[in-house]
Amino acid sequence: MLVNMNEVLIPAKKNRYAVGLFNAVNLELARGIIAAAESTQSPVIMGTAEILLPYGPLDEVSYYLIPMAKKSSVPVVVHLDHGLTYDTCIKALELGFSSIMYDCSTDSYDENVRKVKEMAEIAHSYGATIEGELGHVGDNEGSAEGSNHLEDPSKYFTDPKLAKDFVDKTGVDALAIAVGNAHGAYKLPPKLDFERIRTIAGTVDVPLVLHGGSGLTDNDFRQAIKEGISKVNIFTDINIAAVEAEFKRFTSMDKGVIDLIPAAVEAVKQEAMKKMKLFSSDGKAGMSSESTGITDIETLTKIVAAEVAKYLNKQ
Ligand SMILES: [Zn+2]
Repeated sequence: MLVNMNEVLIPAKKNRYAVGLFNAVNLELARGIIAAAESTQSPVIMGTAEILLPYGPLDEVSYYLIPMAKKSSVPVVVHLDHGLTYDTCIKALELGFSSIMYDCSTDSYDENVRKVKEMAEIAHSYGATIEGELGHVGDNEGSAEGSNHLEDPSKYFTDPKLAKDFVDKTGVDALAIAVGNAHGAYKLPPKLDFERIRTIAGTVDVPLVLHGGSGLTDNDFRQAIKEGISKVNIFTDINIAAVEAEFKRFTSMDKGVIDLIPAAVEAVKQEAMKKMKLFSSDGKAGMSSESTGITDIETLTKIVAAEVAKYLNKQ
C-alpha cells in the first residue's frame, strides 16, 4: 500500500527501529526493493533524488513506483530524495509521490527555514510528508549523489538548538542531520558523532534521518538507531550489488540483457533484506497501519487548514 512517511516513521521512532530509503532509478532496483520488503514484512521507503534524474526522469519513474507501491502487501512510501528546486518538488507532488525532501541545506539558515516552511504547507495540502535538512551532509569523492566534498565536515554538523527551532518553524515531518555521515563510498571509515544524535533526538520531536548510510559498519547503524535515527538512506550499496551480480552473470558475449535482469533484481533484494534486518524494520509492516488512524487525522487537519488558507487568500 502507498503511505506517507509519518505512517512508517512515527511507529519506527516510538519503537526504536529504522526504515530504509532505497533509491529505485530503474525497474530492477524497484523490484528488488519491494521483494525485500515483502519477504521480510518490512515497511520501506523508495524513490529517486533530483541528482539521479538523468538516469530516469521523474515522471517515468513515477509511472512504475506509484502503482508498485499501491499494489504491494507492505507499506511503501514513494519519496523524492534531495529535491533541490521548488519546481521538482511540486512536480513530484503532482505525480503522486507521497513524500518529498526539500534540501535547502546549502542556503542560509533563514532562507532554509523560509523555503522549507512554504513547501511543507504545500506538501501537507497534498497529504504528503516532507523532510528537511539542517547542517549539511557532504559527498564522498565519486558519489553518484553529488560532488560537494567537504574538507572539514564537522563545520557543517547539525546544531541541536537550531534543529528544534528549524522543526518548530518549518513544520517538517522528518529531519536529516549531519553527524559525520557523507554520501557515496567512504574512503576512510567514518566516525559518527553519536552523542550529537542523542542530543538532537532529545531536543526535536520528529524522526531523524541519516543520509549516506552505505559504508557504515553494522555497529554504527545499531548505535545510531539506538540513539534516535528512524530513517536510513541507502543507495551506493544496492547500486553496486546490482552491477556486481550482472558482471558475474556476464560470462560470455552471447548473454543478453534478459540474462542480467534477474541477477540484478535478486542482488538488490538480498542487499536490501540485509539492511532491513539490520535496521530491525523486518516484521514491522503491521505496525505502520496501526498508526494510520492518528496520522490520517493529522494529515486531514493539515489539508483542511491549507484549503481554508487558500480560500482566505483569494478573498
Ligand atoms: Zn542524502
